[in-house]
Amino acid sequence: MARLAQTAGLTDVQQEILSTVRDFVDKEIIPVATELEHRDEYPQAIVDGLKELGLFGLMIPEEYGGLGESLLTYALCVEEIARGWMSVSGIVNTHFIVAYMLKQHGTQEQKDRYLPRMAAGDVRGAFSMSEPALGSDVSAITSKAVRDGEEYVLDGQKMWLTNGGTSSLVAVLVRSDEGHSPAERAAAPHRSMTTFLIEKEPGFGEVRPGLTIPGKIDKMGYKGVDTTEMIMDGLRLSADQVLGGATGRGFYQMMDGVEVGRVNVAARGCGVAQRAFELGVRYAQQRHTFGKPIAQHQAIQFKLAEMATKVEAAHAMMVNAARKKDSGERNDLEAGMAKYLASEYCKEVVEDSFRIHGGYGFSKEYEIERLYREAPMLLIGEGTAEIQKMIIGRRLLEEYRFQG
Ligand SMILES: Cc1cc2nc3c(=O)[nH]c(=O)nc-3n(C[C@H](O)[C@H](O)[C@H](O)COP(=O)(O)OP(=O)(O)OC[C@H]3O[C@@H](n4cnc5c(N)ncnc54)[C@H](O)[C@@H]3O)c2cc1C
Repeated sequence: MARLAQTAGLTDVQQEILSTVRDFVDKEIIPVATELEHRDEYPQAIVDGLKELGLFGLMIPEEYGGLGESLLTYALCVEEIARGWMSVSGIVNTHFIVAYMLKQHGTQEQKDRYLPRMAAGDVRGAFSMSEPALGSDVSAITSKAVRDGEEYVLDGQKMWLTNGGTSSLVAVLVRSDEGHSPAERAAAPHRSMTTFLIEKEPGFGEVRPGLTIPGKIDKMGYKGVDTTEMIMDGLRLSADQVLGGATGRGFYQMMDGVEVGRVNVAARGCGVAQRAFELGVRYAQQRHTFGKPIAQHQAIQFKLAEMATKVEAAHAMMVNAARKKDSGERNDLEAGMAKYLASEYCKEVVEDSFRIHGGYGFSKEYEIERLYREAPMLLIGEGTAEIQKMIIGRRLLEEYRFQG
């Protein structure tokens, strides 16, 4: 992208990383993305390439073999990758959230055990909060862990695990009611939740005793990357698999992970919208109607103007949210706004590009058809628009409390 979505103030290292990723996306992802997506095929060669580039360790500290980069660098890379194919950014995203949670909340022993192998891309992460009966309402989680000597026994059904099949480490949120009376649980359901780290074999079926990954969920878009259920039936984990070593902190650990995940989803929205704009502006100059390129009709130019403005605005908000987190400040408001705006704008820009393509937009031969099926996922993942607005609204009332 020559003009849009530029980011001021990047270091030489950041610029170099981004230009390497952009080059990889243009050469290795865009040419094959649509074909692989139509076949719902896992992009193994692309994942191997990203591994080689060190992308799986981008934000993992150097002492654990990662590149120790900032959230901003990561988000800008994700934006580039999503411009190529949104599913590939999904493969990286859950891994990144789990690595981030380990870095922030893991015990030293857990960091030493997992982060070096995660940085190399040899252990890959998935995270699991949602269940068949809940996604937005995390406090209603019913999967549970019960202590049995030095172990915990986990039971319950989880839903919508991105990378559920291909990952080898799942961070899962369950209820563990140790030390809480029923009255305390009712008053503060979040305090009786714990994140466990489950090691498993990649693949489907019974991947370790007591743990089954039934198979891929068939989706309208976001193909290639596997999204699965997960059934825990008497799954035994040793007590040292509790993230951070103490029960009752899981909800807060997950929310911390989801907060950086929201910047990531915003970045994905920016990338998909950029690609939709690129496709639209190119097609509008090739297609002629009524004796001139459709780009010369004012109605189409207005569409392009609106699309480009949305691409710019979403990018600026995403960068702002990432920088806020990198500076050590709380960024829930900015991340919520960026995720909300970028995903809504993405859907609108994709829709406009689709309209510019006329009938051909409906053909599977044109890339915009894939983008049209991918954009809706961003409206849902890491919290729906309604949930973002709840977060934004609550935070605003804290900031602008009426003192009368
Ligand atoms: C492709 C895909 C991948 C996913 N990957 C993961 C993953 O890796 N890990 C994971 O844990 N989850 C994952 N999810 C789950 C995702 O986070 C949830 O789908 C999402 O949070 C919404 O939850 P829900 O589907 O249960 O919808 P619900 O919570 O049932 O919501 C239904 C509707 O009601 C609205 N709503 C709910 N509560 C309120 C309220 N209080 N006020 C107003 N409106 C409300 C919602 O906005 C939505 O429009 C994934 C989902 C998809 C589709």
